[in-house]
Amino acid sequence: TLPRRLDKFLKDELGWTRPVTHERLHEVRVNGQSLKPCDIVLPTDEVEIAGESLEIGSRDFKTYVFHKPTGIITAHSDPHGRACLDQYSQTWGHACAVGRLDKDTSGLLIITDDGDLTFALMYPEFEVRKRYVIGLPEPLERDDSRVRKLLDGLDLQDGPARALRAELRPEGLAIEIDEGRNRQVRRMCKVAGLPLQTLHREAIGSFELDVEVEQFRELSEDETDELW
Ligand code: URA
Repeated sequence: TLPRRLDKFLKDELGWTRPVTHERLHEVRVNGQSLKPCDIVLPTDEVEIAGESLEIGSRDFKTYVFHKPTGIITAHSDPHGRACLDQYSQTWGHACAVGRLDKDTSGLLIITDDGDLTFALMYPEFEVRKRYVIGLPEPLERDDSRVRKLLDGLDLQDGPARALRAELRPEGLAIEIDEGRNRQVRRMCKVAGLPLQTLHREAIGSFELDVEVEQFRELSEDETDELW
């Protein structure tokens, strides 16, 4: 390995995106010192995350599913003291959440230290589908024009968006999208005229959320491979 900037090092080795690095930099020590993201890490440096030394190369990746409750933000620390993921991080160590769910959204979060998996799940080119359940005040009719709008595609500020599938449920509507722009489902519903009350993510790729709220589970290697 070559000398690398600390932010590049954390991205390559752990899949930490820029916001994650921002939130968790205080946990990182290089030869016992805190560094800035632009500082250089040498192959011979000792890197510790939250007091645990990081072994490069011989890594055995850990991937977890977590059932995020509503009311917490998807961040690993928060300068304003809002409830966030730090109350659970003992479990998953230096692994980090892939993407974000809004504070008021519940459901499936993948937590991993496998950088390749992080980037595969986050980049739209990989087209990993995410399924969301939109809670509505009353059930929809089969031919609701607002659902048609979601499927036909609509314009958001940052470009067009479309649901790839929609399924009416007694409690609302399930839709699939293969992107994850900020508040995308909420914005799509707003434009389509659907009065979203709750939002829950129940699947990523072929993986269905299978733990209770606030619980997590480590995935086997086979399960991890199935995610993408
Ligand atoms: N879309 C949203 O609007 N919010 C989420 O949390 C996830 C997807």
